[in-house]
Amino acid sequence: MADNKPSPYPQQQPPPGAEYPPPAYGGPTQPAYPPPAPPGYPGYAAQPGYPGTATTTTIIHQQPTAVAISAIGFGESPVAMSCPACKQSIVTATTYVTGTLTWLACLGLCVVGCDLGCCLIPFCCDPMKDVVHICPSCGAQVGVFRRM
Ligand SMILES: [Zn+2]
Repeated sequence: MADNKPSPYPQQQPPPGAEYPPPAYGGPTQPAYPPPAPPGYPGYAAQPGYPGTATTTTIIHQQPTAVAISAIGFGESPVAMSCPACKQSIVTATTYVTGTLTWLACLGLCVVGCDLGCCLIPFCCDPMKDVVHICPSCGAQVGVFRRM
């Protein structure tokens, strides 16, 4: 039953007195190819094309006017400021636009079952919308108030 059947692990425990033939490739003491160099080879340390100090180039990206101005903080109410476009002292005109909160409120109403038109209520509700500040003199958008 068990004779002439090679063991699945031949190198683990050879039977005593067994004669194994020499390996078919090359020889036991002469490898056909030189062994590869170890990773820590000293002659391989200096590798060209590997800059130690990267050239740091500071690119100052000019932000759009609306984003830059919004950093000072816009709210829902009009703001008295100097228009960056026409350089005039203005009080911004506000316009409500659909924003992230508006869509999230619509989605939330759909989830709870108010999907028969009720989910459109946020689009008609100004407190759910973002506020865009526009210069009344030149019409440029000078800021945005985002609720989210
Ligand atoms: Zn303006």
